Amino acid sequence: MARYVQDFSEGDRDQKDLLGGKGANLAEMTRLGLPVPPGFTITTEACRAYMRTGRVPPELRVEVTMAVRRLEDAAGRRLGDYHDPLLVSVRSGARFSMPGMMETVLNVGLNDASVQGLTELSGDERFAWDSYRRLVQMFGRTVLGLDGALFADALEEATAARGVASEVDLTAQDLRALVETYKQLVREHTGREFPQHPREQLDMAIVAVLGSWGTERARLYRRRERIPDDLGTAVNVVTMVFGNLGPTSGTGVAFTRDPATGRAGDYGDYLVNAQGEDVVAGIRNTLSLADLERVDPAAHTELRQAMRRLETHYRDLCDIEFTIERGKLWMLQTRVGKRTAAAAFRIACQLVDEHLITMDEALARVSGDELARLAFPRFAEDGGGRDLFAEGMPASPGAVVGHVVLDSATAQERAAAGEDVVLVRRETSPDDLGGMIAAVGVLTARGGKTSHAAVVARGMGRTCVVGAEDVVVDTAARTVTAGGRVVHEGDLLAVDGNTGRVYLGEVPVVPSPVTTYLEEGLEAAFAQAGDDETRELVGAVDRILTHADDVRRLHVHANADTADDAAHARRLGAQGVGLCRTEHMFLGDRRVLVERVVLAEDEEDLRAALDALLPLQREDLTALLAATDGQPTTIRLIDPPLHEFLPDLTTLAVKVAVARERGEVDEHDVRLLAAVQRMHEANPMLGLRGVRLGLVVPGLFDLQVRAICEAVAARRSAGGDPHAEVMVPLVGSVQELHLVRERARTVMAEVGAAHGMSIDLPVGCMIELPRAALTADRIAEEAQFFSFGTNDLTQTTWGFSRDDVEAAFFPQYAANGVLGVSPFETIDERGVGRLVRIAVAEGRAARPDLVLGVCGEHGGDPESIGFFHEVGLDYVSCSPFRVPVARLEAGRAAV
Ligand code: ADP
Ligand code: MG
Ligand code: MG
Repeated sequence: MARYVQDFSEGDRDQKDLLGGKGANLAEMTRLGLPVPPGFTITTEACRAYMRTGRVPPELRVEVTMAVRRLEDAAGRRLGDYHDPLLVSVRSGARFSMPGMMETVLNVGLNDASVQGLTELSGDERFAWDSYRRLVQMFGRTVLGLDGALFADALEEATAARGVASEVDLTAQDLRALVETYKQLVREHTGREFPQHPREQLDMAIVAVLGSWGTERARLYRRRERIPDDLGTAVNVVTMVFGNLGPTSGTGVAFTRDPATGRAGDYGDYLVNAQGEDVVAGIRNTLSLADLERVDPAAHTELRQAMRRLETHYRDLCDIEFTIERGKLWMLQTRVGKRTAAAAFRIACQLVDEHLITMDEALARVSGDELARLAFPRFAEDGGGRDLFAEGMPASPGAVVGHVVLDSATAQERAAAGEDVVLVRRETSPDDLGGMIAAVGVLTARGGKTSHAAVVARGMGRTCVVGAEDVVVDTAARTVTAGGRVVHEGDLLAVDGNTGRVYLGEVPVVPSPVTTYLEEGLEAAFAQAGDDETRELVGAVDRILTHADDVRRLHVHANADTADDAAHARRLGAQGVGLCRTEHMFLGDRRVLVERVVLAEDEEDLRAALDALLPLQREDLTALLAATDGQPTTIRLIDPPLHEFLPDLTTLAVKVAVARERGEVDEHDVRLLAAVQRMHEANPMLGLRGVRLGLVVPGLFDLQVRAICEAVAARRSAGGDPHAEVMVPLVGSVQELHLVRERARTVMAEVGAAHGMSIDLPVGCMIELPRAALTADRIAEEAQFFSFGTNDLTQTTWGFSRDDVEAAFFPQYAANGVLGVSPFETIDERGVGRLVRIAVAEGRAARPDLVLGVCGEHGGDPESIGFFHEVGLDYVSCSPFRVPVARLEAGRAAV
């Protein structure tokens, strides 16, 4: 009873866990009757046994013997026979593809004697020796662990000695000599002979592939890709077929549709007289499938039929490896192919139109990330004239050109003057926000994909490259240096957020028609699209997104602080505003008004200060409610620590000290300094902020609730349909919310009475402290809605300060597997998600009509959206420009 080995004829594509992807698909093709060279798969079970015990299970040896004999009997040849040798390839193939991690050895079974047999069999001496030297080379590198460069150098010497340009021009004699050199290398570096016995070669190759699963390199890769360590790899042993048997042979790769553009119709590269790895190596120019049709119409027809068969069978784009041996087609691999974002959308809709898949399936085959990628502008095709300045990590997509600026203030100044600017910083901090908003792109020398710059840039849709380690920013000299070249502030840089590359000077940018579609609709996008392919793409995006809207249960709201943002979000399909951060209305010129609130020395001062803020806040909110007319609009009361609105302590202290020395003391500054000192906190994010501030500074929340109510009254009087909701941040205890709600009710009643109308706005709170989640049943007694603030909830659950830890130790944590992705990017389901589950269940139990949403960064993250759907939230709220992504992902979560 076979346990560790399965012939291709026994398996199918559903056995990927046991046979790996390559093995399962080889079995499937065999079942379909396609011409696959006979072979067998050593299962992942064997690899797991090998990992457990450190040795090959004895049963495996026996089973391999039996499987090899079956191959030999079917072929009528013996492995490594002196006259008529059977040769095999030994190919790794795990459940998930791990590019570059594991290897393949071709031509196993060749030795000093069977190379003669291969010559007889093929009638081609050069071919036989070429195959042999490939075996020694691949075996030496992969199985014996020699440095590949040793062989490459020897090969180069041989071509140089011959005075030819490429290895294809080497003669049989040259290759024979090369084999000797290679064997000598093996002898020198391993202290033993290249193994001559075919079965020993086979066994060693199998062990090498099994062992490659456990190498440090492979482990590291799996940790990063979150592939479990205990899956193991399968090993495929496949009868060799030869594409290097002269002009009627060759090898190629093919796709059933173009994986780059999604164009319907097959597509591929073919190389005459070559073996497997030569196609990708790019030694010679390849032919197209159309060329193949001319060279070998029969094989071409058979290939096309096989491709059609596969595509019908898998109901998706397939990629294929094939070899033609003297006119006979052999299929060596297939899988559902990787593709670009544009191809994903186009192909999904093509398959719907061909009645091969349903719209639900089409939706499942595209992703929010792909949609986001399509929406960003890009640099025009490289004409070759580009000047690369530096390279970092692509953190937020897009392609922008702007003048270099080195600080936030300069960025705002020059942007206000109408210039496109690129903000270049060593790293960014919350102080750089203004500059990041003003800039078209951001470049940092430090930080990873979850650094402040990256997260903020993604949130705002700014193009961003981070961690360009060569870049040195000198804010004193006002220069940026990389690779010995100096760029001055004001010079042009082109930043490609899709690739992480940064160029000197101008690079032409082309806008995305998908963005035009999302912003202005199909007509406008069609008008812009220059060609049929683009029209097909835009049409596909429209159809799939419309279907997502039809099937999704989650609503999509936007985080929008201004009427402009809200209107923009609405154009992109937002169904409301899930988070309006009112503190943003207190910045800029209005900062001094907040200062007055803080400095107020008595009731009267305070009242006057608050009264000055009221009309400003009311006007902002009236405009916002006009933009969201008819839609729920959740307005959060002021959240950050008050000192964020005050000048920096050190700067102010210096200013006052200098003034004292000169005897020009400014009373205002002195009082301000005292206030700043009084309010200084060691850990402000865990300090006096949110609801605490509202309860401690009398009148502040009243002012805000009044402004909201008056804005509602104004909109109603103007014939509008405002749906404002009052959201209280940082609640940890039901009593906090109770106190705020009592006051809010009083204010609502007052404003209502003054305007002769009933104002009864829903009051709810953020759930962003573990205690709030754990006491959700109590809090729900006072809250009409919950909005999960998953950024703070992640910080407070992990005890991580997002602004500090990402640069400090996240890279290390990612490398050693503590963190897969940053919990600030994708919700940590086990921990933070558990709190969300508890709060959802207990909140709903206490108040069945409780409305539940999320307004953290995670609201726009594809993976997290699936989670929020599953736990039963009513909506997700995200940055305006992420709204289409969230619509799509909410749809995918529902099918
Ligand atoms: P990878 O996963 O890197 O593509 P493969 O196992 O598919 O590695 O093999 C590498 C190359 O060798 C491919 O081009 C493949 O088609 C070719 N190849 C593998 N097995 C055989 C075989 N039995 N006969 C001819 N070519 C083969
Ligand atoms: Mg392959
Ligand atoms: Mg918060």
